Order: sequence, then structure tokens, then C-alpha cells
Amino acid sequence: MTSNCIGCGREIPAERTELGYTYCTAPACQAQYRQGPTVTAVAVNKSGDAYRVAEPEDIAARAAAGEFATKNTGLGTVHQDTPRVPAPRRPTTRPTRPTRTARPATPAWTPAWTPAQENIVRLYADMGLSPRQIAARARENTPRLGITEALAVRILSSPRR
Ligand SMILES: [Zn+2]
Repeated sequence: MTSNCIGCGREIPAERTELGYTYCTAPACQAQYRQGPTVTAVAVNKSGDAYRVAEPEDIAARAAAGEFATKNTGLGTVHQDTPRVPAPRRPTTRPTRPTRTARPATPAWTPAWTPAQENIVRLYADMGLSPRQIAARARENTPRLGITEALAVRILSSPRR
């Protein structure tokens, strides 16, 4: 199984023919027909370029056939060194455990007034003042405590702590 060089017509060695060459190794024929292997960088993934040695037409044909499409989708034909933003990590789905509703350790009954308010109200009450008088006195002496008549009533109607 031999064939002849398409350039000079000389017989091409069989092993060369088997490799698919159609021209001989003569310098003139090499210069005329040889297409040097073209190194084409194909962006494969972020880790780097894969260098494929192939004829340009071959690369183009294979690219058109979609051979590289699955690997370089989104990277385009020009490799960029910009690091890809890692996808946000999804919280791993765990079996939902009934979470105990965190409740502050407070007694069921919570006074709606401050100790300072209660001290003043009880002090005035011990002096014999009515809630109305307590509120008036507190407004005068300790306006920041915001003691009202209603509050004085509520404090005085609650058990002394
Ligand atoms: Zn030849």
C-alpha cells in the first residue's frame, strides 16, 4: 500500500501513507504542503487553557460541532484571567428541628413601671397622698419619671414587692 507524492510524484513510504500523508518528505514538498501543527489554546475551564495541537480547520470544525461547548460555556473564545465569582453557597438542607422559642427568663407577671416610679408612688402614698395628689407631686418633683394618676393607682393596687 503505497501512494505517490502529490507534489513531486515520488513514492511515499508506506508508513507515511498510513499516517495519512499525501506528500513526501522532500523539502520542497514539505514547504508546499505541510501545514505546521497549529497550537490553539482552547479555554476549557478556569484552571487553565488546554492546548490542543490540531489543524486550524479541525479546531474550527470541532468547535462548530460543539465539542468544546460544554466545557467553555460562558468563557467565550478569549480566555480571561478574571477569576470567576464562586457561586453563593447554599445552606445545606437539614431536617428541621423544632427550635425552642427563646424566651427571656422573666416572670409571667411583669410590672409596667420601674422601681423608681414605684418607690416614689409608695413614698407619697405612705405620706397619705391620694393617687391624684401623688401624680401632681411627682409631676412637680420628678417629672422625668412620668408618673400619672393612673399609674399610681396601678402601682398601689398591686402587691408590694
Ligand atoms: Zn514529494
